[in-house]
Order: sequence, then C-alpha cells, then structure tokens
Amino acid sequence: MAGSGKFFVGGNWKCNGTKESISKLISDLNAATLENDVDVVVAPPFIYIDQVKSSLTDRIEVSAQNTWIGKGGAFTGEISAEQLVDIGCQWVILGHSERRHVIGEDDQFIGKKAAYALSQNLKVMACIGELLEEREAGKTFDVCFKQMKAFADNITDWTNVVIAYEPVWAIGTGKVASPEQAQEVHAAVRDWLKTNVSADVASTVRIIYGGSVNAANCAELAKKEDIDGFLVGGASLKGPDFATICNSVT
Ligand code: PGA
Repeated sequence: MAGSGKFFVGGNWKCNGTKESISKLISDLNAATLENDVDVVVAPPFIYIDQVKSSLTDRIEVSAQNTWIGKGGAFTGEISAEQLVDIGCQWVILGHSERRHVIGEDDQFIGKKAAYALSQNLKVMACIGELLEEREAGKTFDVCFKQMKAFADNITDWTNVVIAYEPVWAIGTGKVASPEQAQEVHAAVRDWLKTNVSADVASTVRIIYGGSVNAANCAELAKKEDIDGFLVGGASLKGPDFATICNSVT
C-alpha cells in the first residue's frame, strides 16, 4: 500500500445479473465480514443500482459503470451524473477497457466525463491499461501515460479519484499479471504523477490493479508496495470470493 487512505476493492458486475441473482449476491455481501481497513464498492448495471442501494449494507458503496459526459437532456439512452447522485450512487467507473475497445470511447471523451462526474460529486475509478500487442511492442508505459495525461488534463482535484491499472490482456482471460508486472506499472504511474501532476497527488492517490483477480491470487498481489487495492470483474459476482479479495488487505 503506497497511496493514502484505505485499501480499496471495487466489484465491477459488468452486464451481468437478474433481480434474483443480484438479490442473492446482496445477501451474501450483507452476511460477509469485511476488514475495517478496506473501502469496498460494487458497480451493478444501471438498472439494478436502485435495488442494490435499497438493500445492500451502507458499509459498501455503490458505483455506476459509466455516465454521460455532461448535463442530462436530449441524449437518448444515456444516464447523467446528476441522476446517479440522485439515486444515491457514490462512484463511477470511467475508461474501462471494454468501453474504450468495444464501444470505442477515446481518451478525450473519457477525460471530459471524469471532469464532469467529479464536478457533480461522483467519485471516479479512472481506468487505464495496455493491449497485449502494445505490451509485446514495449509500449505499456507509453499507452498508460497517454491515458493518464487525458485524465490529468481534465482533473484538478484528485481527492476523489482512484486509478485502476487493468492490462487488457488480463481482463476476463484468467491470465493475471504477475505481482511484479503489476507493481512495475503502478510504480511507473506513480512516478508519472509525481512529474506531471504533483508529489502530493503521487503519494496519496490509490492505484488499484484489475485483470483476473480472484480469491486465490489476490494475497500475493496485495503484498506489492504500490498495489493499493483491486478492481474485480468475474470474481465479484461470487459474494464469498469477493469478500476474500476485500480481506486480502495487508
Ligand atoms: P476480470 O475483470 O476480473 O473479470 O478480469 C476486471 C475488470 O474488467 O474490471
């Protein structure tokens, strides 16, 4: 743990779940014993946020998986930051690789979303990460720094931001980054923040790792100095496994 504050674990449910399966997940999470020194956040699909807010313990905060770039209005199919705040949602995940590479969102669009969400008092999990071919071409740092710059160009106050490093080749593939691979990028991103934002932000912001984190591999990753938590996809759909990951705080 290098950032300040508590270890941070987010559960990204992606486009999964039904009223019934989510109700079961909520009861498992409500029954779980979570360590005190971990912040826990779950990100259900938009339409289930209200259900989760009304039945999940307040111990766990709630996030959206995306938001519109600005104020609401005539934007068919979008959900605004104001609406998320209105239903009690505290966080939003922005720049997730599936939104970048499947939906086609670019750095600038994501950066502007971050600025707007923060202006409306939504806290932001800002995601970055390289594709396999970019890693193989030795471009991991270039890609991550370029994505960081788009966030930094738009964010003035980093207090309510957590950075999630999620190598795309590790997301949903079962191929987790080794603790050394993750540590190397986290330390480089922290260094980038020191040079390009401020020493204060570099030493306080939490940088979490995502990509095939599970109950079996979380403890080794959590030991690394610059890993301040996790963003968990598949394993966050299983309450007991997710609780184990939350409690991997060292
Ligand atoms: P995964 O997803 O844990 O299923 O690899 C992580 C994420 O996309 O945040």
